[in-house]
Amino acid sequence: MSQPAYVIDKMISAKSIAARIEELCDDIRQEFADTEKLIVVGLLRGSFVFIADLVRELDMPVEVDFLEASSYGDSTESSREVRILKDLRGEIHDRDVLVVEDIVDTGHTLSHVAHLLESRSPRKMKTIALLDKPSRREADIRADWIGFEIPDEFVVGYGIDYAQRNRNLPYIGKVRFTE
Ligand code: 5GP
Ligand code: MG
Repeated sequence: MSQPAYVIDKMISAKSIAARIEELCDDIRQEFADTEKLIVVGLLRGSFVFIADLVRELDMPVEVDFLEASSYGDSTESSREVRILKDLRGEIHDRDVLVVEDIVDTGHTLSHVAHLLESRSPRKMKTIALLDKPSRREADIRADWIGFEIPDEFVVGYGIDYAQRNRNLPYIGKVRFTE
């Protein structure tokens, strides 16, 4: 399928992301100081780069698991209906869990996933999102940690795609259509 022409304007540099992750990991390490082994749950697919950098900066015992919830498809419209396409491999009952999301937009995805995982009675569960678009919020949810607040722009890079492209950009950029 052909896409309309667009360019990507750099919004957050790789360097800024790395610096912010160092700060976030200081907080996360403190919050989970008494945790034997943290279960880090990445929401596929957008969080895969973020989670890779996070766990290496965390420098504590972790397990990594993934969950996939339905989201945008190949368009830029969000869907209120959230479906679980792939569930966790492991149990989280009585465990310490960090849920890692790429972007909190309307908040429906994180809200749905957080409720689902809370129903499995983890000992402690916290959420982190690299990006937050508060102006778009519909569900009553906020991640415990946010990398960056951004305006209502469609962004790509650092794991985040537009129609499955641009995930491998090392920075966050906003998509600007040129036709
Ligand atoms: P929600 O609206 O449920 O908070 O977010 C749904 C999903 O849409 C998020 O998990 C995120 O991956 C995706 N999303 C939100 N904003 C953007 C964006 O600007 N670019 C891309 N590629 N995905 C986005
Ligand atoms: Mg996502």
